Amino acid sequence: MNDIVLNLAVIRQRIGAADLIAVSKTQPLEAIIEALAAGQRKFGENRVQEAERKFLLLRPRFPDIELHLIGPLQTNKVRDAVALFDVIQTLDRPKLADALATEIRASKRDPRLSIQVNIGNEPQKAGIAPEALPAFLAYCRAERGLTISGLMCIPPQSLDPRPYFNKMRALADTHKLPHLSMGMSADFEMAVECGATEVRVGSAIFGQRLTQENA
Ligand SMILES: *Cc1c(COP(=O)(O)O)cnc(C)c1O
Repeated sequence: MNDIVLNLAVIRQRIGAADLIAVSKTQPLEAIIEALAAGQRKFGENRVQEAERKFLLLRPRFPDIELHLIGPLQTNKVRDAVALFDVIQTLDRPKLADALATEIRASKRDPRLSIQVNIGNEPQKAGIAPEALPAFLAYCRAERGLTISGLMCIPPQSLDPRPYFNKMRALADTHKLPHLSMGMSADFEMAVECGATEVRVGSAIFGQRLTQENA
């Protein structure tokens, strides 16, 4: 049994009923194919063009792939993103909501949308501030007619993530959002304990990334 297959099996066992999003950014096709052979179908990518390069090739063979955008989305990439991704987890500003609404209407595609929350209020990090979430949700829904079904976060590095995960769980409950995306290789078990419905795991499946990433 090779590493990717084994890693997937171990992680699946540890996350119970939560969904596993295999984060395949920077990984070569061969690694993704190994994961596919092991039954993995949900994948996360950070960049639209990199995801196109890899998944447009794989989709015809594996039509049940569910592709998640988990990296920042520029408005000039919205058309390509809506065409490719099944789930967009990084909605975080009104301009992006405007562009998504326009493109979803025009393309008749209907990607599931989640809002990224900057749960640690970190100045350098993407995501809507927790205090601004109610108004932003209302904007997306009432002003732009978008269906929002989840939240995602990346908690501050090198702090105990559990208080942040718990805050996210409370926000998802308050706003009755069924999908809660949190937890990465270092903390996915804690995230599941705190109520994550999906975890985004990269290096614990595929090994260390060798190339630069934009996380
Ligand atoms: C890269 C990345 C992950 C996966 O990180 P690992 O630590 O390799 O598991 C999860 N979420 C986001 C948003 C990422 O950019």
